[in-house]
Amino acid sequence: MSKFLGIQFTLAAVQYEGIHQVLDNIQNAGGRAICTGLSLVQPVAEGNGRRMPPLDIDGYERLLDRPLWGKRELWLRGYLAHEPDLELFAHTPYHPNSAPVPPELDRELPHKVLAEAHARKMRAYIQISPTTIPGLKAEDQVHYIDGSLPDPHRRVARQGCLNNPAVKNYILALIRDTVRHYPETDGLFLDWVEFTPYDLRDHFSCTCSHCAKQAQEWGYNWPQILHSLQHTWEALHHLSCQDLARIQRLLEHPSELLELFQSWPGWLDFWRFKAQTVSQLYQEIRQVMDEEGAKSMELGANGWCPPLNRSSGMDYRTLGRICNVLRPKLFTFHWSVLPRWYGQVLLQWNPQLPERFLLDTLVSCLDIPDSIPSRSFAHYHIPAPNEPHPAREETWRIKIDEVLAQVENPERVYVSAHSYRPLEQWKRMVAILRDSPVPGMWVTRYGYLSDAKLDALKNIWN
Ligand SMILES: [Zn+2]
Repeated sequence: MSKFLGIQFTLAAVQYEGIHQVLDNIQNAGGRAICTGLSLVQPVAEGNGRRMPPLDIDGYERLLDRPLWGKRELWLRGYLAHEPDLELFAHTPYHPNSAPVPPELDRELPHKVLAEAHARKMRAYIQISPTTIPGLKAEDQVHYIDGSLPDPHRRVARQGCLNNPAVKNYILALIRDTVRHYPETDGLFLDWVEFTPYDLRDHFSCTCSHCAKQAQEWGYNWPQILHSLQHTWEALHHLSCQDLARIQRLLEHPSELLELFQSWPGWLDFWRFKAQTVSQLYQEIRQVMDEEGAKSMELGANGWCPPLNRSSGMDYRTLGRICNVLRPKLFTFHWSVLPRWYGQVLLQWNPQLPERFLLDTLVSCLDIPDSIPSRSFAHYHIPAPNEPHPAREETWRIKIDEVLAQVENPERVYVSAHSYRPLEQWKRMVAILRDSPVPGMWVTRYGYLSDAKLDALKNIWN
């Protein structure tokens, strides 16, 4: 029997193609489980609502493989399918978007999707992103070490700080609300419940007053953490070519890192503190689910791959004891752009640095090697649909092996494979995951699976 295969889709796909068509395609490809979101959509004029696929700052070339309303790129306005129970949000200034749903939209659609999957003997899950909070105030976002806040135009995930009570109470209320409305779901997958490092500066977050308070309650030496972060922040504003050479030497001779950690021990505590923040939150989420009588409902965590999971707080070892499913994200279209996003910040701080040397260093630090011979920013962008992603294929397996080495229960690790990539690279990804030790994979998502990619999935995976 082949390994587990789940495929994720948005309600938009079901609204446009129909439940039966979507589930037929998924089952035909060998899918044994589905996962859906809870947002009903309506096409709107360009510039209104949200672009689909999401731009993710500057991914202008990104297109859907499966058209929606006949288009591979369009603008949609979203509506939460169910009416949230606003009383649950009494302890936070925030609540889900409860804008009136246009009468032509079918609010029962999520229930119908879950019921149809169950009728076909498939497992049926829901994914939500509880840290993306409607109307989030600037000051409730993560804070950087110099006291600045993220630039709203440079955010992929505009998240609130997980230690901020206004944010945390919203997250827990949203979990309770979702579990109450969809008790029939087999599990809840959560996205972006971590300190997502899309921007170099995100590695210096969060140092808000709520984080300071929480860290000190847990016994961390907060002044020492701030001191280490502050030193590094300033050092990155005064980088020389000798510094870049030293960083590259460190990566080749990791024993040199010992000196750095002895001098700046706050970094290790900062990562431990972020890991504790995320794990503790997942523990509380599990408790809320149990209180709602959903003890058998699975809890799944999406997360960044190594090495960035250290900074994001995604401690797979601890989370593997709390969550039923861990889904490290092989989102190589984001890896394709990170060297430029990080590099542009560093170049802004240090305009004299040579672009190529800077990128060579960043690619090594991020541990996503590619075969680009003479690197420039122009090489690093969110790829167009038929453009291969530069990270070498062996990197995919290395990341998986790293996560597996971090957990006590590898049977809980299901890779989240992003299907936005050219057909040939998709075939390689399916084959590499099939031959890896993971028990299965989740495909994110149906909208990037052309009929040819669905066929490849069926033939290679099964
Ligand atoms: Zn904070």
